[in-house]
Amino acid sequence: MQSYEAASDLMKDRVVLVTGASDGIGRVAALTLAAHGATVILLGRVLEKLDAVYDEIVAAGHPTPAILTLDLSMAGEHECRQLAEVVETTFGRLDGVLHNAAVLGDITPLEMYDPDTWDFVMKVNLRAPFVLTQALLPLLKQSPDASVVMTTSSVGRRARAFWGAYAISKCGIEGMVQMLADELANVSSIRVNAINPGATRTNMRASAYPGENPDGVTRPEALMPLYLYLLGPDSQGITGQSFDAQPPKAAS
Ligand code: NDP
Repeated sequence: MQSYEAASDLMKDRVVLVTGASDGIGRVAALTLAAHGATVILLGRVLEKLDAVYDEIVAAGHPTPAILTLDLSMAGEHECRQLAEVVETTFGRLDGVLHNAAVLGDITPLEMYDPDTWDFVMKVNLRAPFVLTQALLPLLKQSPDASVVMTTSSVGRRARAFWGAYAISKCGIEGMVQMLADELANVSSIRVNAINPGATRTNMRASAYPGENPDGVTRPEALMPLYLYLLGPDSQGITGQSFDAQPPKAAS
């Protein structure tokens, strides 16, 4: 999929919400989607960081984005329904969601894992994609070609020692993608897929591997063909699958 070449106007007239759009892979995905014509809803918890992404998109002459601030560790049914109402009132449509935001938590044996950290990680990484998707489904169903993309990890395919709640949350993401894709298959055209970015040069990667030389780690820009493919019209009919954005190598 790295060889996929997206048309320059691939995302024209589409409205796509990106969680964790303030930094790392989400920031680059937001910029890339906007560069291909999407109106991007930038969701994150720190307004200043979202403002900077907003300014970058506007300065490049791409469709004017929108900002929604929400701390996903506190995202309940009420907050997500409110958010869906704002999207409907502002844009009247939603064609894609990229569930990208996540936190790493602790890398430590399960025997010693702090239960509060566990809950926090599960809220951001697994509960938030669930409640947000649930609230946004009515809008997504109205789109002629909606795509939901969730973000997994190699430890979501095979949980590795010491990766704690992060690994289990990503195992849950893999399951949610399969389940939701099956549930929607016969009742709507919404497709639901997962992306494993693979080792990517971001703050999260640096936290997980503090001794690693970042120069040898793939930049988020290199992953974007798969993100465009799955969020754009060329992936119509593809659902319930988990993709690697780069050939799996080091732990990620
Ligand atoms: P970063 O830590 O660089 O960025 C994470 C993003 O999520 C930031 O925008 C951050 O916002 C946001 N976020 C975190 N917590 C919350 C919260 N409570 N509410 C709202 N937003 C929040 O991570 P990456 O870009 O590396 O990761 C992106 C995705 O890719 C994640 O799902 C990760 O698990 C996955 N992944 C990454 C890999 C890698 O090597 N980088 C490998 C495999 C999977 P803020 O700016 O406020 O911190």
